[in-house]
Amino acid sequence: MTDLLSVIVPAYNEAENVAPAAERILGVLAAASIPCELIFVDDGSQDGTFDAVAELSAGDERVRGASFSRNFGKEAAIFAGLSLAKGACCVTIDCDMQHPPEKIPEMYALWRQGYQVVEGRKSSRGAESGLHRAFTRAFYGMMSRGAGADMSDYSDFKLLDRSAVDSLLSLKERGVFYRALSSWVGFRTACVTFDVQERQSGATKWSTAKLFRYAVNNITSFSNAPLVIPALLGAISLVLAVVFGVTAAVKGTGSYCAVLFPVFLMGGLILLSLGILGYYVGKVYDEARMRPRYIISRTIGDKNGKDQIVS
Ligand code: UDP
Ligand code: MG
Repeated sequence: MTDLLSVIVPAYNEAENVAPAAERILGVLAAASIPCELIFVDDGSQDGTFDAVAELSAGDERVRGASFSRNFGKEAAIFAGLSLAKGACCVTIDCDMQHPPEKIPEMYALWRQGYQVVEGRKSSRGAESGLHRAFTRAFYGMMSRGAGADMSDYSDFKLLDRSAVDSLLSLKERGVFYRALSSWVGFRTACVTFDVQERQSGATKWSTAKLFRYAVNNITSFSNAPLVIPALLGAISLVLAVVFGVTAAVKGTGSYCAVLFPVFLMGGLILLSLGILGYYVGKVYDEARMRPRYIISRTIGDKNGKDQIVS
């Protein structure tokens, strides 16, 4: 079917949320006459999430499911869903209904108008502590520089055209950060805004330790900025060495600057060397990820009459 929408729902210990989520999503899509399939990816839950999916699937052929052997994380669940999807476009949405499914018809309408990526952007972040807010601001500041786009209100709630899905699936890197990669692949992009809702039931699946790991993992897989730190410190150290050197020359060898001069000179040179090494490590890392050099979204003038969206 050429206009089939695949809705992908990563679910980790969401047994009580699966049926209400399915009912709400399918209800919204039926009301808007959008043909769909609903794919739950159980990310190694221990609470019978997959049983709930199996029960739904038995009564409704639009519902499909896959279950991981253990908890691999939300990104892995999203990518598994994308690779199972048969739709001409895919929507990814959280199982706890913090992303309102009522926005999907709006996203779908934009897709019908020719947009290939429709980003769900948060107009409000919902209830978050001050510390959490400060942490996310710093994290997204760094990620935005890495991705070359302002990502501060990005979410995992988005619609991707088949060409964008295939481009994402063709990336060979292991450490994938869906939120940033979906904008890295490019394509004609539109945005819809939404208010983050209260969690339907249960608690967030992110502990502070898991969030920290997630942040470090994503910063290192999307940004080489931390590699620049030694070079920066080295440069500062060398400037200070010059200041101390000049002061020592003026005041004589008895001044404390005469002691600090060689310390900062050596420290600066070592840090700068580390920075240069870091630069090459960054290059090796970029190559190891084997991202495509470019992604073509359309061709024209193909003699074989195969002009189409390609990726
Ligand atoms: N999730 C997942 N694997 C995990 C953690 C979360 O698939 O290891 C799913 C979870 O079931 C939900 C979505 O990712 O559908 C968002 O998780 P959560 O609501 O816990 O995160 P928050 O909204 O608090 O950022
Ligand atoms: Mg949530």
